[in-house]
Amino acid sequence: MADTPPNNRSSAALGASTPLVPPLYQSSVYCLPDLDALDQIIESQRPGFIYARDGHPNARLLAEELAALERAPWAVVCGSGMAAITAALLSIAQQGDRLVASNSLYGRTTQLFQDLGRFGVQTTFVEARDLKQVRSRLDERAKALLVETMSNPLLCMVDIPALVEICHERGCLLIVDNTFATPVLTRPLELGADYVVESLTKMVSGHSDVTLGLLCGAADVLTQVSQVVSVWGLAANPFDCWLTSRGIATLALRMRAASANAAALAEWLPEQPRVNRVVYPGRSDHPDHDIACKLLGGGFGNMLAFELAGGRDDVNRFMRKAAGIPFSPSLGNTSTTCSHPATTSHRYVSPAERRRQGINDGLIRLSVGIEELPHIQREIAKGLA
Ligand code: PLP
Repeated sequence: MADTPPNNRSSAALGASTPLVPPLYQSSVYCLPDLDALDQIIESQRPGFIYARDGHPNARLLAEELAALERAPWAVVCGSGMAAITAALLSIAQQGDRLVASNSLYGRTTQLFQDLGRFGVQTTFVEARDLKQVRSRLDERAKALLVETMSNPLLCMVDIPALVEICHERGCLLIVDNTFATPVLTRPLELGADYVVESLTKMVSGHSDVTLGLLCGAADVLTQVSQVVSVWGLAANPFDCWLTSRGIATLALRMRAASANAAALAEWLPEQPRVNRVVYPGRSDHPDHDIACKLLGGGFGNMLAFELAGGRDDVNRFMRKAAGIPFSPSLGNTSTTCSHPATTSHRYVSPAERRRQGINDGLIRLSVGIEELPHIQREIAKGLA
C-alpha cells in the first residue's frame, strides 16, 4: 500500500461500485505517470487534468451541463459572473477597439466597461431598446454589443432577435447577460446571440452559497477563451462547481415556482399601502411587456421591483420590520430576499445616471423565492404596516 500513489488508493477503495453523485475533486493539482502523459494531455491527445486553474473534473462536468442547458457547443465556468464577463471581453477586444454596451446594466458591468478605457478599449453606451439608436451607434465600427436580457434592477427587456440582425449586418458580436432570465426562460444563443454570460451565483446555483459565472458561445473559440480564463486567473473552484451542479437539478422547478410567486405578488403589491409603483415584465403596464411575451417562455422570472412613497426612510422601516424578507444584496435564493439598488448594485453609478434609469431611493428590488405565497405576503405586509 505504501508504494501506491494516493490517487490510486482512493479509486481502489470503491471496489466494483461507482458513486451515484459525481464526486468532488477538491484537488488543486493532479498526479501524472510520466512526462509523455503530461505532453499528451496538454496536446489534447489524451483526456486528463494537470492543474486546477487550467481545468478540473467538477468545472468540466458543470460546463457540459450548462452547455446542454444553453444549447451551446461549448461553455466555460469562471470564478464569478464578473469573471465570465471579463473573460468574454478580454477574448474579444484588442487595444484600439470600440465596444458598445446597454446603458441599463448591473452597475459593476458598467464600471468594467469604463475601466477597459485604461487599456485603450473605449465603450459607447446605448439605449438598447431603441433600435434606431443601436443602428447608429453600430454604424461606426464596433467589436461587440453587450446587453442584459432583463436588466438589473428595472427589468428592461431587449429584443434579442432584432439586435442579432443589426449586429450581424454590421460585423459586430452580440453578448447577452442572461442572469435574470436563466436558460429556463430564454436561451439567447438559440436566438442568434454570439456569447452568453451568466452569474451562476444567482438563480442557477440557487442557494446563495456559491460565487460562479458562465461564458458560452456559438463560434469555435473555446481554446482561446480557456487560455484567457487560465492566464488572467478567472477559473472556478471545485466545490462551487459541485454545488452548482446540484443546484441545476432543481433549477427549472425553482424558476417555475418563484416566477409564479413573483407574478402573484406583482398583482397584489399595488394594492398595498405606501407602494407607488410595481415593475414586473409580466404586468401589462411594463414598458417591455410585449418583448417579454415574445422572448420568455414559462413565466416572467422571479425578480420584481417596487417603489415606496417615502424614499430611503420608508425603505429602512420596511427592512427593519420585514424580518422574513432579509436585506441581502444578491438574488436567486430559495427564500425571498430584498435589496436596494441605489445603495448596493448601482452605488457607484452617478446619481444623475441613477435618476435617468429610474433607480431612486424608494426602490426595493425583490428576489422572490419558492416559499408558500401567503408567507411572503405576510412578511411584506409587516414591512409595509
Ligand atoms: N450580471 C448581472 C445581471 C448581475 O446582477 C450580477 C451580479 O449581481 C453580475 C452579472 C455579476 O455576477 P457575480 O456577482 O457572480 O460576479
